Amino acid sequence: SQRTLVLLKPDTVRRGLVGEVLGRFEAKGLSIVALDFRTIDADTADQHYAEHVERDFYPPLRDFVTSGPLVALVLEGDEAIEVVRALNGATDGRKAAPGTIRGDLSLSNRENLVHGSDSPESADREIKIWFPDLP
Ligand code: ATP
Repeated sequence: SQRTLVLLKPDTVRRGLVGEVLGRFEAKGLSIVALDFRTIDADTADQHYAEHVERDFYPPLRDFVTSGPLVALVLEGDEAIEVVRALNGATDGRKAAPGTIRGDLSLSNRENLVHGSDSPESADREIKIWFPDLP
């Protein structure tokens, strides 16, 4: 079994889609290991998106992820990292396949509802940022 760090970004909360999105992960069979509703500051955003801080798209992304409360969670299950990324769909909601969270619910490249760790190394790093006390 594997763990992954998932964010339901502020657009998910604002649009009232927390239940819908969380329900998809639960229905798939993934277990919630940790869950927190919080608003992050720019420093936390920079830590989480360390690999993107120099990118052109980052300043508006930072504004977006700090714009209101989000839901951070750790999900666990067999091949959880790949399974979550498949459920999330392609980064750009306009191109994401129907049936995926982004494909069904997002029309944006930035406000794409969810984040999921992209590798075991990223998952370890991100889980430590968001849930430092998680055993
Ligand atoms: P995530 O890491 O959030 O699961 P991802 O792996 O599909 O998404 P990344 O390439 O890691 O996408 O980009 C991280 C986030 O940055 C995206 O989820 C999106 O919110 C934003 N982003 C990425 N590319 C762009 C872009 N070209 N324009 C605007 N925002 C972007």
